Amino acid sequence: MLDQSNELAAWDRDHFFHPSTHMGTHARGESPTRIIAGGEGVTIWDNSGRKSIDAFAGLYCVNVGYGRQKISDAIAAQARNLAYYHAYVGHGTEASITLSKMIIDRAPQGMSRVYFGLSGSDANETNIKLIWYYNNVLGRPEKKKIISRWRGYHGSGVMTGSLTGLDLFHNAFDLPRAPILHTEAPYYFRRADRSMSEEQFSQHCADKLEEMILAEGPDTVAAFIGEPILGTGGIVPPPALYWEKIQTVLKKYDVLLVADEVVTGFGRLGTMFGSDHYGIKPDLITIAKGLTSAYAPLSGVIVSDKVWQVLVQGSDKLGSIGHGWTYSAHPICVAAGVANLELIDEMDLVTNAGETGAYFRAELAKAVGGHKNVGEVRGDGMLAAIEFVADRNDRVFFDASQKIGPQVATALAECGVIGRAMPQGDILGFAPPLCLTREEADIVVSKTADAVNSVFANL
Ligand code: PLP
Repeated sequence: MLDQSNELAAWDRDHFFHPSTHMGTHARGESPTRIIAGGEGVTIWDNSGRKSIDAFAGLYCVNVGYGRQKISDAIAAQARNLAYYHAYVGHGTEASITLSKMIIDRAPQGMSRVYFGLSGSDANETNIKLIWYYNNVLGRPEKKKIISRWRGYHGSGVMTGSLTGLDLFHNAFDLPRAPILHTEAPYYFRRADRSMSEEQFSQHCADKLEEMILAEGPDTVAAFIGEPILGTGGIVPPPALYWEKIQTVLKKYDVLLVADEVVTGFGRLGTMFGSDHYGIKPDLITIAKGLTSAYAPLSGVIVSDKVWQVLVQGSDKLGSIGHGWTYSAHPICVAAGVANLELIDEMDLVTNAGETGAYFRAELAKAVGGHKNVGEVRGDGMLAAIEFVADRNDRVFFDASQKIGPQVATALAECGVIGRAMPQGDILGFAPPLCLTREEADIVVSKTADAVNSVFANL
């Protein structure tokens, strides 16, 4: 067993090009390899038998928890009956049609159709194409620019990596590309003018957006994209009245709104969609992760009736839409999606995300909120983050080279709990499976307090 895992670790270093990984330290064996072997509920274990509570649900995606037989049975049954058929020229399967209906039944009002992809990145790629197509059909060929936010995360393709507003995803990739622009992040804790109230800061963000639209020319700005709550950029809930004020500006200049609900869709905030949670009325919604709880890769774009009507006009003029993937609505993935959405209802996970999530954040704040190096404990629903600072009174941040966030995440992992060092800033993020119990939350909180205390005691 030991020999086998050593051999696997060697093959891993020599042959596996890992995403989002330091290539040099991994290939040289200077950073640990962990070979994950199994999972049950909120717990995973590796091939040496070591267990961890996964308080980030993979990459905030295993929402129902690990090892759910209902979904694996649905996948197996679909694979046996019909592993593949395409969805081009009007073809469907019982699962793809059923899942479309289930999604629209759960979506915010005014939504009409679902286009299926495989990842959050490709779904946002679809969004960009649909936005451009929409404005071409409407005879507005100049209206093509898309405004995103600094610290937004929307994927790591060429265009979706451009939408993403994090340096790590741009550096040395020649991104961002035109016609993508970035506006102020709705990050109240890091606001430049600390005298501002939350509402004033939201107004400031809306004013910045309006200035950008006017400077670029409203006839050139097609859409705005945002996650209801900033995710990978730091798990930052929107400041008071942010979405109301942003939507007023977008309406004024006829700019479409894309809600990227890859993290928030299907329950993470204690509501089925983050748009409903924050009063957002999107024209397009991106979904992925929670759609199948990552039991199979599946994403989607939910298209509003307003956009759909224009797309249909386009087809009547131009013929079939020239957009599709071989694996759009892959039968095995949509079968996983149907079983997953049923399970979310059966286990009442949306309610649990709201209730246990609130308990978890309150306990986290009690345990570490008073620590001299904790600037803020924040979150919403089953999402939480701790932001570390060198000085909480003057809000002095650590130098990035100190890698405080990664140090705390590593110390926590050593205590048997997985959190995530968010990529920009010293922020420890949590996004547990939505089935987390209070007892499990208590363990995560107490191990987090231990990890925080040990890292700062040694600093
Ligand atoms: N959008 C959001 C809000 C995300 O958090 C992510 C991934 O974390 C994506 C899009 C990209 O999804 P994927 O990694 O499946 O391409």
